[in-house]
Amino acid sequence: MASTPSSPASGYRGRLAPSPTGYLHVGHARTFWTAFQRAREATGTLVMRMEDLDGDRSRSNFAEAAMEDLRWLGIRWQEGPDKGGPHAPYVQSKRRRLYLAAWRKLLHRGCLFACRCSRKDIDSALAAPHERAQAASSGSKLDILDDEPMYPGTCRHLAGHLPQLPGPTSADVDTPEGTNWRFRVRDGEVIEFVDRNLGPQRFVAGVDFGDFVIWRRDGGPSYQLACVVDDATMRITEVVRGADLLKSTARQILLNRALGFENPAWYHCRLVVDNHGRRLAKRHDALSLRAMRQRGLTPMNILAAELPVEV
Ligand SMILES: [Zn+2]
Repeated sequence: MASTPSSPASGYRGRLAPSPTGYLHVGHARTFWTAFQRAREATGTLVMRMEDLDGDRSRSNFAEAAMEDLRWLGIRWQEGPDKGGPHAPYVQSKRRRLYLAAWRKLLHRGCLFACRCSRKDIDSALAAPHERAQAASSGSKLDILDDEPMYPGTCRHLAGHLPQLPGPTSADVDTPEGTNWRFRVRDGEVIEFVDRNLGPQRFVAGVDFGDFVIWRRDGGPSYQLACVVDDATMRITEVVRGADLLKSTARQILLNRALGFENPAWYHCRLVVDNHGRRLAKRHDALSLRAMRQRGLTPMNILAAELPVEV
């Protein structure tokens, strides 16, 4: 059961992947604690990776605060921005070269198309906003308002073609800048996986999600692309994260296949909710680890408390 600290690391590699866009809350604490426990029980290695691709909202002081809060909880990791390691850098904004290589591979394998739709074009091609809101509040585990909207398919006929971009000839395209790039899904394809916590999961491409963004017009890779590239190159064997990312896992299975990456195992944690049943967000300041710590709560108080979770 319990491993001694001197045990050699097993092949298990897990990760903690906070986004430095605010202070961590009690829900993050639970998920990260689970990731820590699973790595420890497997005598594995835990990697800290800072997911700071949201350039408008990411702040270096939040990155420092996240690591400090997690250390305060008692969580320890073996590789990360503060420790270095064989897969450095451990900060996504410094890993752009790897994401670009993956974008290029997907492009040349005919998996992508250039999409010139604006968010407004997509919204107006979809059902009226109140219908989307209703679907989101109907108790579905897939809160579509949390996720990118279903793509209506306007530009998908361009899939498999290298686009005619101004400048170099299309065969020379080697930069994704200036347009959105989407991954073309096969409508009706069923994606199934067994989650190690929540059991069998099933999603249908074209129904649960549409062609999804890989690279943004504003110059950055999407969460989906960066995540699969990092999990593969950092040799992560199990991904522990919140259940809000189940649908992202389905997309990431498609990306792993297209890129020739092996799938890690998945362990999605149920989300902690507030007294009104709403998911915690970084706006719940009173439930931030900082605030709870200032009120005198201990790590044990926070980790052992009975908290409502989303079912
Ligand atoms: Zn489009």
